[in-house]
Amino acid sequence: MSSNAEYDIAVIGAGVIGCAVAAALSRSTCRIAVFEKEADVGFGISSANSGVVHSGIHYRPGTFRARFNVTGNRMMEQLCRELQVPFSPVGKLTVALEDSQRKSLRALLEQGEKNGVPGLRIVNQEEMEHLQPGVAGVVALYSPSTGIVSPYELTIALAERACANGAEFSFCTRVTGIERPRTPGSHFHLTARKGDWYGPGSREVRIAARVVINAAGLGSYAAARMVGVSSPPIYPCRGEYHILDKRLKGSLGTLVYPVPEAHSGGLGIHLTSTAEGVILIGPSNEYISDGEYAATTRTILQALREEGHRLLPSLDTHDFIRCFAGTRPKLAPPEEGGFRDFIIESSREVPGFINLTGIESPGLTSAPAIAEYVRNLTGELLPLHDKPEFIQERPVINGVPFSSLRFADASPEEKEEMAARNPEYGSIVCRCETVTLAEVKEAAGRIFGPVTLAGIKYRTRTMMGRCQGGFCLQRISDILHEHCSIPIERQTLKGPGSELFPGRLREEQ
Ligand SMILES: Cc1cc2nc3c(=O)[nH]c(=O)nc-3n(C[C@H](O)[C@H](O)[C@H](O)COP(=O)(O)OP(=O)(O)OC[C@H]3O[C@@H](n4cnc5c(N)ncnc54)[C@H](O)[C@@H]3O)c2cc1C
Repeated sequence: MSSNAEYDIAVIGAGVIGCAVAAALSRSTCRIAVFEKEADVGFGISSANSGVVHSGIHYRPGTFRARFNVTGNRMMEQLCRELQVPFSPVGKLTVALEDSQRKSLRALLEQGEKNGVPGLRIVNQEEMEHLQPGVAGVVALYSPSTGIVSPYELTIALAERACANGAEFSFCTRVTGIERPRTPGSHFHLTARKGDWYGPGSREVRIAARVVINAAGLGSYAAARMVGVSSPPIYPCRGEYHILDKRLKGSLGTLVYPVPEAHSGGLGIHLTSTAEGVILIGPSNEYISDGEYAATTRTILQALREEGHRLLPSLDTHDFIRCFAGTRPKLAPPEEGGFRDFIIESSREVPGFINLTGIESPGLTSAPAIAEYVRNLTGELLPLHDKPEFIQERPVINGVPFSSLRFADASPEEKEEMAARNPEYGSIVCRCETVTLAEVKEAAGRIFGPVTLAGIKYRTRTMMGRCQGGFCLQRISDILHEHCSIPIERQTLKGPGSELFPGRLREEQ
């Protein structure tokens, strides 16, 4: 992206929302710029959540959250098929642990039906046991349309679709100022600070755009304020998770949630599994002052284990391998609790500015539906002409095609065929997740921004297993050095400031 370039649309933020919006807009012939302050897509909230494709039972009828949740849920399976992203319609049990919660369960059923959620039904203990052996509770609400998706893979795939269809991404680029158009219909002027990837400095980038879309997640309040759009403040609310060992894969047949408490900032600590079958317990909900502070705490992790055990007493919650935290960009202040609706609007105060803020859960589920809505809002500001050569399927990036079949998931015959075709499939880099050299090289080759360890991890699952990188990190570092020409001093976990190796102890002989 060159300085002083002119675009039709500038998107701030490359989380799942910004990437879905850019992908939807890239069906048109417009010029799109996407700014992301981090080194890759999905390094914000979009990679630290439950990955649940919600059914839509939890949200008040008539709200954006209810509407986009249900529509997003309907769109998700087809989208994941097109983009070859793991998706699994596993269903969900919301369990009443006591008789006194039956009323709340019925209210959720009625709310879900009003929202158009298909197949909802109250199930007794016998059916609960059939759906999830060992589950606690007296009765449950079953929602068969709840699913799970890999949140980072979805974000990456949407970004790739946008990129292959011409959207220009600029990473390590923080938007710092937005000037309004001087005359109606003219351009906004955006100023951004672009980090110097291989050095300590940074430079200023200025571009012009006719429409600005604020999809900055936790940074959306600050971005709206830059241009003088009145937008309510964001209250960061942290959710911590436990990750259990893959050994327990298969212990969870469906997702298990408690009945949410009134005024709680979350849906209650639940048991979910990732698209790869790894069980998560969480998230907690705790308002914090710094949204970027993603630390986990011992007391909450202990509480998560107890809560997980309460829902499924047979689960060995001590078999955990890691923890992480994500932060909700809440519009409801702590004293109010609960949820406020998403704000998604074309600003009247500043025409041409589309503001998306407070996109907490179910933002991941809603992303495809929100993207279509924002595309329509953009179409009211700019003529959008369909691009005949639009690439719908998972695209080739940097000349590297996408392989949907993971070596770990292949049958013995397929593994043999893969290794015969490319001997690098015969070289295992990550033992815990059985990731091969061929896959790490493919992932590095397809990244269209800076290559980081986390970028490789989210694309291949290296470092996500029991050893958490203890064995494979060194090998990946060597691969980045030898095959991608990234010297080890310039290798980072997630971008500048997370360098892996601060320097050499002695010079190479
Ligand atoms: C604990 C937790 C659990 C959740 N579980 C679920 C779930 O199971 N199902 C579901 O549907 N939803 C869930 N969600 C909600 C979902 O994760 C979010 O709604 C969604 O990821 C929001 O995406 P986003 O693109 O708006 O935000 P982000 O992914 O944070 O993207 C915003 C991006 O903007 C960038 N940015 C910010 N400021 C600037 C700037 N000035 N210049 C350039 N870039 C900037 C950030 O770096 C970031 O990458 C959960 C959320 C949390 C926190």
